[in-house]
Amino acid sequence: MNYTKQIQDIAAKLFAEGKIDVFVGYRMNGFDDNQVPVLITDPQDVSKLVFTDKSVFNLVNYLKSDHTRRKRVGLVVKGCDSRSLNLMLTESQVKRQNLYIIGIACEGVVDDAGQKMQNCTECVVPDAVVFDELLGGTLSGSLTLTGSKPYQVNADVTALAAMPLTERAAYFEEVFENCIRCNACRHSCPLCYCAKCCIDQETATLYNGANTTSSAFHALMTWSLHLAGRCVDCRNCEKACPSHLPLHLLHKQNESVIYENFQEHLAGVIPEDRGAFYKYSLKDPDDFIM
Ligand code: SF4
Ligand code: SF4
Ligand code: SF4
Ligand code: SF4
Repeated sequence: MNYTKQIQDIAAKLFAEGKIDVFVGYRMNGFDDNQVPVLITDPQDVSKLVFTDKSVFNLVNYLKSDHTRRKRVGLVVKGCDSRSLNLMLTESQVKRQNLYIIGIACEGVVDDAGQKMQNCTECVVPDAVVFDELLGGTLSGSLTLTGSKPYQVNADVTALAAMPLTERAAYFEEVFENCIRCNACRHSCPLCYCAKCCIDQETATLYNGANTTSSAFHALMTWSLHLAGRCVDCRNCEKACPSHLPLHLLHKQNESVIYENFQEHLAGVIPEDRGAFYKYSLKDPDDFIM
């Protein structure tokens, strides 16, 4: 998967035609063969843009930034990224007319060791679902689901569910103990855009800034529940976590419960779909409701 030349050409054209103020893409980090996000405002810099299976980050997160707000933005989205963009559009956080979206029919990205990332091996929506042009795909329009495969519960969630409760509790105790409350997970999530996050409320003793296992537990559980039915499994949060915590366990557990109980809901796949908690059917199972 290499769309470097195409993306450089499209960005150059968008600047030349005066259609964008800023382009959000990837560039080499300058140290090794890994990449970092880049915001380009000078057309001379489009030659820095790259796109390969090392283009791991979800660039939609940069639409929360003052550098892009109220500007005309070009950006690149893979399937998972595009689902978070769909949600940002539905939740009125960005205006579609301000965006030029280069969608990727994604073949998966790799970690530092060159291994395909776990979310990519399980990905059910690899093609971008919202775009102005799609690279690597054959269809044009706003929704393709080519390459989709049946949804499966995440392998780690399944393995954890098979563990005795006490062992599972001990496992999560260790996870929360190793959280340093840096909030990098929240800041790196495109769908955590609240101007004042409830977890930051000074008066909320549950989440007080003290770095304790209890405060980490409450903060991360609240955070994951605010992403329930919205998380698109891009793993931006996990990539940002300095403690390398398996945050996907929280989100994928929520995702599987919601998939099972809310009419096979998957976040952000359908434009203008307001989410699992807006769906109601008399056929919904209610055995999980307290
Ligand atoms: S999760 Fe899917 S869309 Fe996202 S990078 Fe992996 S294969 Fe691509
Ligand atoms: S919670 Fe993590 S995996 Fe889910 S959408 Fe946010 S950054 Fe992506
Ligand atoms: S954790 Fe909840 S309140 Fe905080 S930014 Fe995310 S969605 Fe908003
Ligand atoms: S990024 Fe990791 S260490 Fe930082 S608050 Fe989130 S889970 Fe904790």
